[in-house]
Amino acid sequence: MFHLQRNVYLDNNATTRVTPHVARAMSAVLKRRFGNPSSLYRIGRDAAAVVEDARQVVATTIHAEPDEIVFTGSATEANNQVLTVLTDIHYPTRRKIVSTPIEHPSVMATLAHLEGRGVSVEFLPVDRLGRVVLAALDAAIDTNTFLVCCMLANNELGTIQDVVQVTRTAHARGVTVLSDCVQALGKMPIDVRALGIDYATFSAHKLHGPKGVGAVFVRRGAPFRAFLHGGHQEAGMRAGTEGVHNIAGFAAACRALPTVLPRMGETARRTQLLADELRRLKPDIVINSPQQGCLPNTLSVTFPDVTNTVLMAALDLYGVAVSAGSACSAGETKPSHVLKAIGLSDDAAHQTIRFSLAEDTSVKDLRYVLRVLRDHLDGKTPAIRALRASQVDHHFLFDDANYILDVRFWHERKLLKGLPNSHEASFVSFKKYVHHVPRNKHVLVVCMGGVDAIPIAYALKSKRCDNVSFLLGGVVGWRIAQPDLYARYAGTNVTAIEPRAPRRARPRLPP
Ligand code: PLP
Repeated sequence: MFHLQRNVYLDNNATTRVTPHVARAMSAVLKRRFGNPSSLYRIGRDAAAVVEDARQVVATTIHAEPDEIVFTGSATEANNQVLTVLTDIHYPTRRKIVSTPIEHPSVMATLAHLEGRGVSVEFLPVDRLGRVVLAALDAAIDTNTFLVCCMLANNELGTIQDVVQVTRTAHARGVTVLSDCVQALGKMPIDVRALGIDYATFSAHKLHGPKGVGAVFVRRGAPFRAFLHGGHQEAGMRAGTEGVHNIAGFAAACRALPTVLPRMGETARRTQLLADELRRLKPDIVINSPQQGCLPNTLSVTFPDVTNTVLMAALDLYGVAVSAGSACSAGETKPSHVLKAIGLSDDAAHQTIRFSLAEDTSVKDLRYVLRVLRDHLDGKTPAIRALRASQVDHHFLFDDANYILDVRFWHERKLLKGLPNSHEASFVSFKKYVHHVPRNKHVLVVCMGGVDAIPIAYALKSKRCDNVSFLLGGVVGWRIAQPDLYARYAGTNVTAIEPRAPRRARPRLPP
């Protein structure tokens, strides 16, 4: 195995690097435009001018008018707001939303919440490449339907939908359309007029802007309301003091798009190169992203017989960041709903990796990634053993040769007790406590669902901890497999190697 280390960030659909000019624009606002945009004196008016200037820039970028842009705290908030507010406006007269099964969780979870309130949601079918079957749209819309919700580009596959066709069909039936354009902005030109959409959502951090700022496009005349209660910011559409520096960063990121977008042709060629070379490396891979009608930077690949979380952690060890495409939620490693919707089995979903390039990802970067991948597939990267929950039995737990390291977050520890004799240091701060881990023992790394433990196990391996493994299925899986041991011993003799947060003294009430 070669030892050359390079950092290659191939998870640009998760978030992007803030570019220096964005950081400078934000810093200038933080230093010199600190006022509250709602204040009437000059310092406030200066801050308000930053927000209005940014509104103009964002509007121009998507071919909208400034009064059609509402800044929010994220695209998640924006999706929640549009879906919830439109339901409030139409329900119970009209109570149906037509959507797709591959929307982002901020849409899927909101739809599930609204279903609980009596809204009916119909999901259109998608094909093997994540293309929505639009022939089914007209039939799905009935007199009860008030909204069609269809994303422009999918975050996991990169698949671009024919939103023009969606709006044509929906409008012909008197129904409005929301399109989540989060992944599209920064990777393809967006013209909300040409798309014909009524509502669209955006997020700055997908295009080299800051995290914590999003926007909703609301077509003039389309009904809309505030979602948060409080002040009358954003023309009464979004309460809360504007994150002026974030909004300025969003605008700076948009200003750069005329130089970023022309580079997307080259990005698409690099993505294709990666796909071709991966196929050469492992001919049985399955590419889930479409070759046509796809974001130029996104490649979803299934590697048969390779566990994605293990591959992701092995790549991480060599400085390569990719996404495993499955979310570890409530302690379970659930296969991605998008991969399931396109027909992948649970196994295939757990063997799928998403590569998402930036416009500055070089061929050299890709060659490095391919070398690490080849070494991993050839068994040359350090091997981490996976222990099944059934192997972590009474004998294992009380064998002094084993050291159990529990890297769960504090809030996860509240949900389930830890393995007996374990040592706690959370996933994020573990690095500070790495020297506590004995090098002469077998170290078992344990997390909630079995995913977070893997990169920690690899990190230990790189710190001369040779005998290390992780617990498949985490504490959740262990509790299911070993209910008697859990009932009897869980939570006993647990050592916190990371100091627990000191309890704050209760404030004394005045007499
Ligand atoms: N929609 C899509 C398609 C996304 O990819 C994301 C982020 O991953 C979001 C919405 C949520 O964006 P934010 O991080 O601003 O909440």
